[in-house]
Amino acid sequence: MKAAVLETRGREGLKLRDFPKPVAAAGEALLQVHAVGLNRVDLYMRDVGQGITHDLPLVQGVEAAGVVAWAPEGSGLEIGRKAILYSNAFCGRCRFCLAGDQPLCLNADIMGEHRHGTLAEYIAMPAHCFVQLPDDADLIQAGALMVGHLTAWRMLFGKRALRPGETVLIVGIGGGVAAAALQLAVLAGARAIVTSSSDAKLARAAELGAHAGINYRSDRVVDRVMEITEREGVDMVVDSVGAATWADSLRSLRRGGRIVTCGATSGSNPPVELQRMFIRQLEVYGSTGGSMDEFRTVVELFARRQIRPVVDAVFPLARVHDAMDRLDRGEQFGKVVVTIEP
Ligand SMILES: [Zn+2]
Repeated sequence: MKAAVLETRGREGLKLRDFPKPVAAAGEALLQVHAVGLNRVDLYMRDVGQGITHDLPLVQGVEAAGVVAWAPEGSGLEIGRKAILYSNAFCGRCRFCLAGDQPLCLNADIMGEHRHGTLAEYIAMPAHCFVQLPDDADLIQAGALMVGHLTAWRMLFGKRALRPGETVLIVGIGGGVAAAALQLAVLAGARAIVTSSSDAKLARAAELGAHAGINYRSDRVVDRVMEITEREGVDMVVDSVGAATWADSLRSLRRGGRIVTCGATSGSNPPVELQRMFIRQLEVYGSTGGSMDEFRTVVELFARRQIRPVVDAVFPLARVHDAMDRLDRGEQFGKVVVTIEP
């Protein structure tokens, strides 16, 4: 089968080539892949890969939607039905899985990271990672749903849930998680303030329901947040940027506010500012992925057309490098998607 296979690190190490079609192991099913949303972790795997146990060559791609091509007896899956994958082949036996907290699985096995990924004609995954979609589901959008919306869902609602009427600051609108967080915040009846260095991205965010946009190149983020919130600060900050924005994020919070982090692309160790944290009783929590239960909720909302991934650009598999380059340049608003012709 055709696949995008990482043979060695770096852009030139990602090869479009023939690769053996996977054979489903016990309990696994096969997805014929139609669409794959790209994510920053794909660039990280391609260029660095440190801290993630894996072997090369590795088929890349951490999310996908397609059609069930084969399923074991009793799995409840129907061959030919549209389906979307939960990216973590969780063990289902460890204490975290048994508590329904699959992102913390002790044996986490994520496609495109620890095991072969989705940038291929077929992928094998445990049948319990498949969620079937309605026949009229848009597979390109479905292929871009999981990472962005599930990550955003857990960030906004997984701990102290964002409530109607609250205000959330979403740092760095444009990426898949941030765009999804904006949609979900609006859906929840909250007020979203977004930041970007691009007026075009701020305009797109306004179309999606952002209450206000701050261009951090021309405006001071904290000053603008305080103006917009009448000196109070926001209830929640969603920050996936890290060191470059952390100080502003902390200072934008109201007393007792909370900040959720799901990434640190600009650096991992900003000053913690303990004094500010305890005096103002701030909460910081980390988040990654989401549980199977949260995923089913996200898929259900998608099936009912209440959420819809913002697709920035679509590339065929033959142009996977162009797709990765677009993501790498940070030009996108929403998801870059790669499609695979059957
Ligand atoms: Zn587990």
